[in-house]
Amino acid sequence: MNATITELKNLWARVLTKMKDIVNDDNIYTTFFADSTIYKIEGNRLTIAVNSNFAQSIIEKKYGTQLAMVVSEVTESNFIIDYITTDSIKEEDVPAVTETIKPKFFEYSQINPNYTFENFVVGPSNIEAKQAALMIATTPGKFYNPLFIYSNSGLGKTHLLHAIGNYIRKNNPHLNVLYITTDNFVDEYIKFIKGDRESDNLKEFFKTVDVLLVDDIQFLANKEKTQEMFFYAFQSLINASKQIVLTSDRQPSELKGLEDRLVTRFSSGLNTNITQPDTPTRIAILKKKIEGNGLEISRFDDDALEFFATNFGNNVRELEGALNRLIFYTINIKQSKHIDLALAKESVSSFIKVKDSKKKLDETRIINVVADYYNLTPSQLTGKIRTSEISMARHIAIYLCREILDIPFTKIGQTFGGKDHSTVMSAVKKVDKELKTNDQMKTVIKELKNRLK
Ligand code: ADP
Ligand code: MG
Repeated sequence: MNATITELKNLWARVLTKMKDIVNDDNIYTTFFADSTIYKIEGNRLTIAVNSNFAQSIIEKKYGTQLAMVVSEVTESNFIIDYITTDSIKEEDVPAVTETIKPKFFEYSQINPNYTFENFVVGPSNIEAKQAALMIATTPGKFYNPLFIYSNSGLGKTHLLHAIGNYIRKNNPHLNVLYITTDNFVDEYIKFIKGDRESDNLKEFFKTVDVLLVDDIQFLANKEKTQEMFFYAFQSLINASKQIVLTSDRQPSELKGLEDRLVTRFSSGLNTNITQPDTPTRIAILKKKIEGNGLEISRFDDDALEFFATNFGNNVRELEGALNRLIFYTINIKQSKHIDLALAKESVSSFIKVKDSKKKLDETRIINVVADYYNLTPSQLTGKIRTSEISMARHIAIYLCREILDIPFTKIGQTFGGKDHSTVMSAVKKVDKELKTNDQMKTVIKELKNRLK
């Protein structure tokens, strides 16, 4: 997409219109700016021709910063501005236009080097998506086209998209990879129509792309004009066997506000879903992130990691947030080399309270709060280990489920690792009996009920 002379003229006319407003003085504008032109663009340098040395010095010193800003706004690129006076231009100096003005897409297209296949932890919830992504990365355009990855937020879609980009840029550097979020695509498209640039240019631009990675395609909903452009780009890339990968928060058939022809196209390759990771995967992710932070896994107790995995693991982003909080805490607040369960809990206690307060009161919440009170993990509470302290905490949790929620004994039994009706009943009776005689028990139950409010 070489900028033609006409395009340069149009571009400069737009710069001048804006400068006229900024200068806000007809005399100054006419004397110094009105007859300026773009002389040449070479690389990231843009040379403008002005009518005299004096004009150059005024523009440079007084308006240089604003001019640079306007130029960058209009061209959507950062140029260094050079000056030349009109009388020093010799006849034979034909203005040279060597640089292409690219759409800003390439500036957006920053692939995060930290999101790779190597540091993407695989488990049952994401193995299909990972395998499909890897397949695409090794042989783009050959198999599924498009690959469509969907999941709830924070489960690794963006990570996989960048992993594909990183892999291809490394192993197939001649391929032109474009990563873009749908929001940026929409913004850029709107600028194109507003800036009276030909949408043909955009079409030309897409011909140069070999691998198109578009994140969060659900945001194309109800943007009809942009959908049209996207459809064009999509179709021409697919026809040329160029790879397309899309992500979304739902599967194509659930996308609202999207043209049918797009939905059909989105479904025509492979659709793959990422679900919530199971606990072992969450723990493996934590370990990977700990390593990634350059920390020793041996500093972390297993139950501390398990606590994080059970409390924050529905969404990997949340899990990372909690881990970062812990790392911050152990560096800045409570310096500690060794991270045990108590420290892990302490580091996120304010989060958990906020989280809990939003939750409705159910068995899970009772289990979490009782576990927290006794510094145990929820799975210790519902498990089989019977030290006196764990048994006591378990009885109390069972008692509270019955007392507060009035859940049938058999259902409580299922929640607590498959206990039978009579075991549950006797746990409730034990606590009941203690409560009549034991003041300490009264205090504990009172405090727990308080926390459950
Ligand atoms: P999404 O795009 O689905 O909302 P992201 O790809 O942004 O989710 O993931 C959120 C965070 O969780 C990122 O920092 C990502 O690295 C991390 N993450 C998600 N899944 C995994 C995984 N399987 N292994 C390692 N990190 C993961
Ligand atoms: Mg994402």
